[in-house]
Amino acid sequence: MAAITAASEGDAVHGANPRSSLDLLVHVSRELASALDLRLVLERVIKLCLQNVGGGSGSIIVLDDNGLPLDSIIVVKDKVIQETTEQLKFTLQDGLAGWVRKNRQPALVADTSADARWQATPGGKQSSPKSVVAAPLLARERLVGILTLTNPEPGFYTEDHLSLIKIIGEQAAFAVQNARLYAESQRNAGIMTAIAQSASAISASLQLDQVLQTILEQTTDALDVEAVSLALLDPAGSALAFRAATGKRSKQVIGIQVALGQGIAGWVAERGEGVVVPDAQNDPRFYPAVDELTGYKTQAVACVPIRARGRVIGVIEALNPSGGVFDAADLPVLEGIGTLAGTAIEHAQLFAQMESARARYRELFEDSIDAIFVTDLQGNILEANRQAELWIGFDEESLHSMNVHHFHEADYRTLGKDMANLQNGRSVSYESILQGQGNTQIAVEIFVHSIIVEGVEQLQWILRDITERKRLDQLREDLASMIYHDLRSPLANVVSGLDVLQMMLPADQDPTIRSVLDIAMRSTERVQRLANSLLDTSRMEAGQRIGNPEPNAVADIVQAALEATAPGAQAKEIVLDPAVVKGLPKAMADAEMIRRVLINLIENALKYSEHGKKITVGAKRNGDFIELYVQDQGRGIPKADQERIFEKFARVQMGATGNTKGLGLGLAYCKLAVEGHGGEIWVESELGKGSRFIFTLPVARTGELK
Ligand code: ADP
Repeated sequence: MAAITAASEGDAVHGANPRSSLDLLVHVSRELASALDLRLVLERVIKLCLQNVGGGSGSIIVLDDNGLPLDSIIVVKDKVIQETTEQLKFTLQDGLAGWVRKNRQPALVADTSADARWQATPGGKQSSPKSVVAAPLLARERLVGILTLTNPEPGFYTEDHLSLIKIIGEQAAFAVQNARLYAESQRNAGIMTAIAQSASAISASLQLDQVLQTILEQTTDALDVEAVSLALLDPAGSALAFRAATGKRSKQVIGIQVALGQGIAGWVAERGEGVVVPDAQNDPRFYPAVDELTGYKTQAVACVPIRARGRVIGVIEALNPSGGVFDAADLPVLEGIGTLAGTAIEHAQLFAQMESARARYRELFEDSIDAIFVTDLQGNILEANRQAELWIGFDEESLHSMNVHHFHEADYRTLGKDMANLQNGRSVSYESILQGQGNTQIAVEIFVHSIIVEGVEQLQWILRDITERKRLDQLREDLASMIYHDLRSPLANVVSGLDVLQMMLPADQDPTIRSVLDIAMRSTERVQRLANSLLDTSRMEAGQRIGNPEPNAVADIVQAALEATAPGAQAKEIVLDPAVVKGLPKAMADAEMIRRVLINLIENALKYSEHGKKITVGAKRNGDFIELYVQDQGRGIPKADQERIFEKFARVQMGATGNTKGLGLGLAYCKLAVEGHGGEIWVESELGKGSRFIFTLPVARTGELK
């Protein structure tokens, strides 16, 4: 036992002692199990070998999964020698280590001067002959490294040493593999931590300049470099422009443009892959013009693309690491930052766009000549524009404690109970009077619309000043009334003049003269009826009471209407069929107005009926009302239009040929006149079969005869 642990160069193992081998194995595995640091493990393995197998120096080359050198160590007489890479690369290529890697077999070189596998070190320095053993480090068939021991005494190593080193090699292989994995996971953890730290910093702001600055700071810290710069691709994707930079020459860097494909940055943007360039000045991709412009001396560069939604939008360049070279973790860390940067930059750009759109809408809102309020569903004011403040006479602050109902009468018939008519994005409008500052009143048309603001339903009220329009409407109506009114007496004179003429016409006079006179009389009567109806309409619209309702026999009114329309019916060979039930009570009515209602309905029936058809004009009692009707066999009215035709200017479109002349005023007059009497009017109709216009008049309380 003592012989093993305390073994010194030369006397370690001479002859394979099974017991010693076992002890050695236990010892080696115990020694190695406690270390995880790769360098430490390598050093321990070599020292254990030198102690127990014997030798002057030893080395280990660690290989990665592809058989390429990952790390290495040389120990000479208890001392670790740094900077071994070049030499070991050589032996791995042409020397003994290369043979072991290829054959996965231990090798015994009794005398280096007499073995072809041993190659002189580069530079041709001839070394003195020695003896060497080398073994593959195999962990479950996987080659993780090559262990070599050298003894200055040729012929020193024997087959026994070889089997011993093989056994140690097998043990060491697992320790090396574990340490390698550990180192890798440490490195990955380091990368993850660096990226995670950058992530929280970079995503903390939405201001583009701030975001760019943070990206630079994070890169500088994570990679420990002298300078960092960031370039973004122009919208056309053809050039990179440097937008941000740190370091001594940062001011000169900003604004510089390079074409896609130009320089290392352009190469990265074009390829979409990151790169580490250890010696920029001697790299063909390097574009010295930027250094010339800025006066900076670039040595080593790490550069990665910045991506947003899979697209390259720019690059980050890290220059001159403080240790002179980038290490293996730097590129993945920078790539991680590149990915974060893409998302952060895109968010910041979208945010900027949104902000400017918001500002534009804010201006539109503020500068509108309409007053605009935004309220909750109860009408409590949340926002008001300048015009609203001006009209109401309160500043926005005070308006926030008010409700729209405070300064106008809301039309709940239009809005619906609890604003029901505004649901699902519908809008309504109505007219009202706004109580403005200093008791002013503004006639307004109000448009109310429900909007969703940040997921919450709110109401938008737009108030348009219609004072001027109202004034003009009033003026026009007054003017029209005046004209209708003033038409009446000259028309009456014409009618009576024509009457006199007719009476004075000798009975034996030429019948042509009589018929011309008849036409003149009928036409004048029509103009007279029209003028009266228009005057009534404008009066009733202005809210005035209707003419002179008094008890009147319905049969008489029907008769008068039939007489007035008889000539028109004759011309179209249409039969007018009176159907007034006998013994009806009198109706409370202005006979002249109701006669004109009936004439309107009969004239319409004539207008929309074919030759030879029949029109029935009847009346019957229905409770406290007399129901009058005009029934035709004409073209009928589509269901959709049956209510609308009673509105002013409403006409039914029945194809190019079906239209007749008319203004759509007749039925509007009928409705106003009937409703003014306390009755109702409606139509029942089937397309192609005919229409029945029905209206009611209250039965007169007095004079109820049979
Ligand atoms: P006008 O006849 O001057 O167009 P009205 O107010 O009298 O205006 O009628 C409105 C519309 O109703 C008409 O244009 C016509 O389309 C429809 N209408 C009215 N009466 C009838 C009817 N008896 N048969 C078919 N359509 C009718």
